[in-house]
Amino acid sequence: MGSAHPIVVQSMTNTDTADAAATAAQVRALHAAGSELVRVTVNTDEAARAVPAIVAEVDVPVIGDFHYNGHLLLTKHPECARALAKYRINPGNVGTKRRDDNFRAIIQVAIREGKRVRIGVNWGSLDQQLLTEMMDANAKLAEPRDARDVTMDAMVESAMRSAELAEESGLPHDPIILSAKVSGVQDLVAVYRMLAARSDYPLHLGLTEAGMGTKGVVASTAGLSILLQEGIGDTIRVSLTPRPGGDRTEEVQVAQQVLQSLGLRSFTPQVTACPGCGRTTSTFFQEMAEEIQRYLREQRPAWQARYPGSEELRVAVMGCVVNGPGESKHADIGISLPGTAEEPRAPVYVDGALKVTLKGETIVADFLRILEDYVKRRFGKSSGNAGAQRDVAVGVHQADVAFPKNHA
Ligand code: SF4
Repeated sequence: MGSAHPIVVQSMTNTDTADAAATAAQVRALHAAGSELVRVTVNTDEAARAVPAIVAEVDVPVIGDFHYNGHLLLTKHPECARALAKYRINPGNVGTKRRDDNFRAIIQVAIREGKRVRIGVNWGSLDQQLLTEMMDANAKLAEPRDARDVTMDAMVESAMRSAELAEESGLPHDPIILSAKVSGVQDLVAVYRMLAARSDYPLHLGLTEAGMGTKGVVASTAGLSILLQEGIGDTIRVSLTPRPGGDRTEEVQVAQQVLQSLGLRSFTPQVTACPGCGRTTSTFFQEMAEEIQRYLREQRPAWQARYPGSEELRVAVMGCVVNGPGESKHADIGISLPGTAEEPRAPVYVDGALKVTLKGETIVADFLRILEDYVKRRFGKSSGNAGAQRDVAVGVHQADVAFPKNHA
């Protein structure tokens, strides 16, 4: 993790950790969706006791998230301390009077067990003593700074002082990771730029309490993208609030999509689809785009093992000939559907060249067959290496069944 290593996707469960079966199931689901680290809350004796059973049931590193009583739980439950891959400590939540002693107690466990530690500052639980000191000092300045700027400074200061204390307590430099999460995009960018300028620790990025739905997705993407583009960030998490009964793995999909959209990592074949317009009056185009997207998503686990490199595949699904053929030529494989009043034909381009023009009721199935054949030939292990087999002989010829009317 860190420096030139790939940026890692992290997620967090929302089950009661004491319920080992439910938590293990969610960790597995998050891992299956692509999460490479999964964090679980460890807040009670019952949760700490459940951790070894959870870890035994999953195949992904599990991080323990500790607040208030981490020093007690980690010393009282050595099996929990051993099973976890990393401890997340919030310096604002390790106590007040015995703050440093409690913090050191966690560090001693990490040293004994050889674990990583993330010092995770959050502005919702910022060390109030430190913040008060810094606000007081600021108030005495001839020209006091904005309270928001002092708060950002206090977050960085809290992370840096805690890292220093961890190293003074004997933890080596390398296992330390820092984060300083806020819920505003501009604040996130400001605080992480400061953190990156002041230290060489790997940084875990995330907009805390990002929110629900589109707001959470867009705000997280905006904040993460700016920082990742500047080379800041080694692990990321997208903190979405799921809808009741919603899919927790959405946060993993968003994190992966951020990295893939920025060209930093590849996880799954990408579909370029036009938005449709007045030239695509039927729903056929949307249904087809969705069906191809679903097919690619469903194939991903099998393709990962069977066709290494297929995650970089680019597929275009376009609504008409205005931009369809052009966009299809830029993709590895693309289909351009007939728009309203166009001749009912769907040209398929493979590696920039027109390979076949489809017609008829089975256009989606035909296209998926061409797609599967292309992936097999280009990324199959017998093909030598990814990209070696470019000229694909497609197995579908011009269909002779006319498009139903509503395709146009
Ligand atoms: S490619 Fe055609 S259907 Fe799609 S948005 Fe452009 S003009 Fe509209």
